[in-house]
Amino acid sequence: MDFTEKWFGLGPAELALQQEARALAAAVAPFAAEADAMSEIHPGVRDALRESGLAALMVPAAYGGRNDDVDPLAVCLVREVLMRASSHLDSMFALQGIGSYAITRGGTDEQKAQWLPKVASLETLAALALTEEHAGSDLKNVSTTVVEKDGELVLSGAKSFISNAGAADFYVTLAKEEAGLSLLLVPADSPGVSTAPSPELIAPHVLGEVVFDDVVLPQGARLGAPGKAMRLVLGTLAVFRVSVAGAACGLAAGALAEAARHATRREQFGRPLLKHGPVAQLLADSWNDVEMARLLTYQAAAQAREDPAAALNRSSMAKVAATEAASRVVDRCVQVMGRWGLVANSPVERYYRQARPMRVYEGASEVLKLGIATQLCADLDAI
Ligand SMILES: Cc1cc2nc3c(=O)[nH]c(=O)nc-3n(C[C@H](O)[C@H](O)[C@H](O)COP(=O)(O)OP(=O)(O)OC[C@H]3O[C@@H](n4cnc5c(N)ncnc54)[C@H](O)[C@@H]3O)c2cc1C
Repeated sequence: MDFTEKWFGLGPAELALQQEARALAAAVAPFAAEADAMSEIHPGVRDALRESGLAALMVPAAYGGRNDDVDPLAVCLVREVLMRASSHLDSMFALQGIGSYAITRGGTDEQKAQWLPKVASLETLAALALTEEHAGSDLKNVSTTVVEKDGELVLSGAKSFISNAGAADFYVTLAKEEAGLSLLLVPADSPGVSTAPSPELIAPHVLGEVVFDDVVLPQGARLGAPGKAMRLVLGTLAVFRVSVAGAACGLAAGALAEAARHATRREQFGRPLLKHGPVAQLLADSWNDVEMARLLTYQAAAQAREDPAAALNRSSMAKVAATEAASRVVDRCVQVMGRWGLVANSPVERYYRQARPMRVYEGASEVLKLGIATQLCADLDAI
């Protein structure tokens, strides 16, 4: 099945980028299942991503990146291809941007020059440490603290379920201080930083708990002004939330391709599954879901390219629509494949497990819907 992108009006640069991403996906394909079962960095995936040069999409050209600014549509298109091939690959790519974007937006020239070129070349791995045991959707409730002492900063607390924890070279960390919530750039080798694995998830992920035990940092470790962290956090979401939708589209399309192939090859009651109306309906409904999700995703990403902050609500809509659609699609695909859809670590079973967390991280669906509904009622002319 060819879900061609030509109908979406992508230009030559975007089509060339998709080809680059497909070449990387093909390079990783032989060990994708192995990598997706790992909760530590797969060295082969890291090498392949480094050689592709695609991580350079995640930082501005002034610091070794590809484009003047990080381009949400480009990130989205690449994630769509990578997620279809391997969630481990997709996550490694995405985290380089999600973990470093606050440096791009709020870092000093010195911080940018120190870290961003190495993020672009994948010499260092990035992480964004917001979540805590008692602060998930409600980030304002974080209890990690930073205090000034003798001209330095002292960071204390613990972060939970942090992607790349244990492998990352730095943690962009959310902490509370007198002025409000602040972001700090914490090198992973700072004395007092330790990590431990998080609980194993249904779809393995490089994930860990990070403890900051009175970590002493220079004043220059701040990103942006004291108490102004949420601007940078929202700035990161404005660029990257829609890319989760892109990944969800890729996952759904990958699952549907598997199920459609199966439905044409397997016969029951003397004819292919495809010729049984209810099975055809599952496939048709799924294709509709994929196409609708992709339309909204590309539209939101293109809008975010123009003005990320203004497009945040549309990015939330795309994230909810595409991740919820991916869950519906992959559930139907398992059904189309019967017992073959249930075989552990088969492509469809992997997609089935990988779809689920996407509705929880980077804004759980219910929380995003609160914002979407508020925006709807504030701007009825937009409908
Ligand atoms: C694979 C994975 C990777 C992750 N990586 C990172 C990372 O790199 N960095 C990081 O900081 N965090 C990371 N997280 C954590 C993630 O950001 C949180 O799981 C997410 O913010 C949701 O928080 P929670 O799990 O505590 O759920 P909760 O906030 O406890 O929510 C539980 C449920 O209640 C609903 N809910 C909560 N509040 C409301 C409300 N006001 N109205 C309606 N419904 C509500 C939610 O939608 C959800 O369904 C990761 C999580 C996963 C699964």
